[in-house]
Amino acid sequence: MAEQVVADLRDKCETPLPLLREVALAMAHEMGAGLQKEGGSRVKMLLSYVDKLPTGREEGLFYGLDLGGTNFRVLKVQLGGNQKHVVNCDSKEVSIPPQLMSGSSSELFGFIASELAKFVADEENCTNISNGKKRELGFTFSFPVKQRSVASGTLVKWTKAFSIDDAVGEDVVAKLQTAMEKQGLDMHIAALINDAVGTLAGARYYDKDVVAGIIFGTGTNAAYVEKANAIPKLEGELPRSGDMVINMEWGNFYSSHLPITEYDQELDNESLNPGEQIYEKLTSGMYLGEIVRRVLLKISLHSSIFGNMDHTKLQTHFLLRTPHISAMNHDKTPDLKIVAEKLEENLAITSTSLETRKLVVEICDIVARRAARLAAAGLAGILKKLGRDCNDQEQRSVIAIDGGLFEHYTKFREYLDITLAELLGEEASKSVAVKHADDGSGIGAALIAASQSQYCNAESDEVAAKNTYHTCRED
Ligand code: ADP
Ligand code: MG
Repeated sequence: MAEQVVADLRDKCETPLPLLREVALAMAHEMGAGLQKEGGSRVKMLLSYVDKLPTGREEGLFYGLDLGGTNFRVLKVQLGGNQKHVVNCDSKEVSIPPQLMSGSSSELFGFIASELAKFVADEENCTNISNGKKRELGFTFSFPVKQRSVASGTLVKWTKAFSIDDAVGEDVVAKLQTAMEKQGLDMHIAALINDAVGTLAGARYYDKDVVAGIIFGTGTNAAYVEKANAIPKLEGELPRSGDMVINMEWGNFYSSHLPITEYDQELDNESLNPGEQIYEKLTSGMYLGEIVRRVLLKISLHSSIFGNMDHTKLQTHFLLRTPHISAMNHDKTPDLKIVAEKLEENLAITSTSLETRKLVVEICDIVARRAARLAAAGLAGILKKLGRDCNDQEQRSVIAIDGGLFEHYTKFREYLDITLAELLGEEASKSVAVKHADDGSGIGAALIAASQSQYCNAESDEVAAKNTYHTCRED
């Protein structure tokens, strides 16, 4: 019976190349539809109003704040200008108390601002760099936001484990600014971006061939550089650079070609956001452990391979987390000792045979492999949309990826690499590189804050500045 459940899972999670090609094609198609008009696709293709990515010439001291899914990070970077890049960077990571994820927005932003204020105070005590200039901050906020400018935007909806009703529809920059003022923190928010845009910016700072930034962390998202004249829904004057970074919000992608199992269906039904973020629920760190838990639960209810056990833990949603399935999937011990440990510690499954543990490893592998292959199809979709997926590319295309899942789940990364190569073919693969962009998202915010504020300053020296839509700071 247990073998049957796994065989069935293997079958339903199959991702042969023709299916992945359909997924890539559907992604490219949805991208076009989302750019066409507001609401044209489930893939929102939000304008980031970042029309100019950092070049390496930015100079000065900037702060970044990165609010992701589980942690947030504050950081301070000293940019050397003139291709000297980051000459100094200090950061601090703080985990978000779970009760703040579903409380009120003033509590959440109050907490963030107070941590930021502490960081700034500590830093300045050490380095003594208060030079009288207003501090500039880039804010990475990794939830769907409808932007009106590079430094303002209203929250469309929460994703991942967040659910704070009073923040939806509100300007998150104004919320943070108010909270910072309450802390007496004199800081200007120069840019609002998300982690995918930050990863793109952080990687582009070092390599001009970077075309997209992707996140596989708690959730998943992608951002890429689009030609402004390929965005029919872009109103008003086109940006002078001719480019616009698009925040795809691809976590909400759906295609009938996606291989969805009974476990995914139930996970979705019982989630905070049923029917939404289907691609994210198949490919990101918040969910992979939970899918495996559901498969194990089914096995335990229909067979006796886990022996006599108390089901309380195995029935608890999200108790088995992706780092646990990653540890089991990579267990190299001959008797799968780590698998035994993880099952016992997390799910109270205490006595398993080696055969059973092998089966558990296989379940983890099936779920992670499907995720990685669908992830690769998403990347192929972006390359297709950019016309960079064919054989005759002279141009190099680099895709920068960050996020805890990509960083730590080695097999996920390997499957992703292999699958992308399969999808692109040998020739086209030569011109495409996937890079791990370590900590792009926090530094990226500071870099965009730098390039925005310096862009504004440079522009204000030019008479030509009068027609740009940038919201340069008045003070
Ligand atoms: P966020 O998405 O919250 O900004 P990260 O990019 O650091 O944060 O990703 C955190 C997520 O990465 C976790 O929720 C988890 O799903 C996944 N993760 C963290 N560590 C591991 C690991 N060792 N193996 C697999 N996945 C991991
Ligand atoms: Mg993050």
